[in-house]
Amino acid sequence: MGLDQDRYTKSNQAYEVACSLMPGGVNSPVRAFGGVDEKPIFIAKAKGSHIFDIDGNEYIDYVGSWGPMILGHAHEKVVGAVKAAAENGTSFGAPTLNENTLAAMVKRAFPSIDKMRMVSSGTEAVMTAIRLARAYTGRDCILKMSGGYHGHSDSLLVSAGSGVAEFAKPGSPGVPAELAKLTIVVPYNDINTLSAVLNMHGSRIAAVLLEPVAANVGVLVPQDGYLEIVRDLCDMNGSVLIFDEVITGFRVALGGAQELYKIKPDLTCMGKIVGGGLPAAAFGGKGEIMDLLAPLGPVYQAGTLSGNPLATAAAITTLEILSGGGCYEKLEKTSAALAGGIKKAADEAGVAITINRVGSIMSVFFTDKPVFNYEQVKTTDSGRFKKFFSLMLAGGIYLAPSAFEAMFISLAHSEDDIQKTIAAARKAFKAIKEL
Ligand SMILES: *Cc1c(COP(=O)(O)O)cnc(C)c1O
Repeated sequence: MGLDQDRYTKSNQAYEVACSLMPGGVNSPVRAFGGVDEKPIFIAKAKGSHIFDIDGNEYIDYVGSWGPMILGHAHEKVVGAVKAAAENGTSFGAPTLNENTLAAMVKRAFPSIDKMRMVSSGTEAVMTAIRLARAYTGRDCILKMSGGYHGHSDSLLVSAGSGVAEFAKPGSPGVPAELAKLTIVVPYNDINTLSAVLNMHGSRIAAVLLEPVAANVGVLVPQDGYLEIVRDLCDMNGSVLIFDEVITGFRVALGGAQELYKIKPDLTCMGKIVGGGLPAAAFGGKGEIMDLLAPLGPVYQAGTLSGNPLATAAAITTLEILSGGGCYEKLEKTSAALAGGIKKAADEAGVAITINRVGSIMSVFFTDKPVFNYEQVKTTDSGRFKKFFSLMLAGGIYLAPSAFEAMFISLAHSEDDIQKTIAAARKAFKAIKEL
């Protein structure tokens, strides 16, 4: 608790009320600031790269709603599109032209996608992708990477077993052990363990599921050749390769990590940016797999609000802007300047950090070692991260309230934002060094 509580009177009051109404006072756990020993800040509004709390404090925002807000908040064109769509009705439960338009845009950006289906959350997208993979292969097991987050569906809310290549344990009470046993967890960036598991259990493994750039334990960069070998191993084993691009899709390149690293997965899951800041997500891939879905095929999946008119309007506008040219160059330039400035400030203060970055997602790990997988993330200094978080927040910089989350840079972040952020980081590192 490093914050001057006088500046958060209204948030603290609202939090107390919220705690009597919602478990932990929030509708998604990480919002509670438990990972940084602080109390949550209630947001009143946001514009561009800036976010404002209900006490009137202003911050430069690097959470961006955990990824969707790549254009910045309340982008004029997106707001306009949503308003116009709302005038014509907010949901019909019947097909609309905008669904065709959005699907065609997604397909253009992702050549690995023949057909897609829209859903309302990333959780649903991945949950259905693994159902499809199981149906397509007639196998039951799923292989995922440790620390990879794919939403909270039962099969994926698991933690690694005790030994290498062990079947997983429930990651939460309420997940049946029998179901968790159908998931195998191996370290990210570790080809040896992956091939050992495939040798041992390959005939049972329906899918290998991973975030091509892992971004839910901080950012982990795939090592040279890693994704290619994963692709080859899946082909040899007859397993479906599923890329969870809920964060990386439209983020690290228009066509996601699969464009950046030139790998074609069999199925791709998208969320966050593909909803343009509204609740929407999607999954898609090879026609012969996707055509197993009802009503064409036997695999069931449905959604009352899927392809929602407000969400498709926001998404189409967002993707139009992102396709317009120059966006990813600008994001790269802004993000490189931020990463370089933060690293220099830490070096000057004598605080050891490692920055992992791919385009506009990055993380600052408090360690003097490289960080390639979750096992290494867990050895970084989370105490220092907590201090850093509080000092940055006090300095007007809103970072993700967890040592295990990424920073998201948007097109709205200006040169001035970056310089202010680096200045705040410089102060924070000095204070951390003196502790
Ligand atoms: C956020 C996220 C999800 C889950 O998406 P929700 O919309 O929160 O259900 C799945 N996979 C990855 C990689 C994510 O970052």
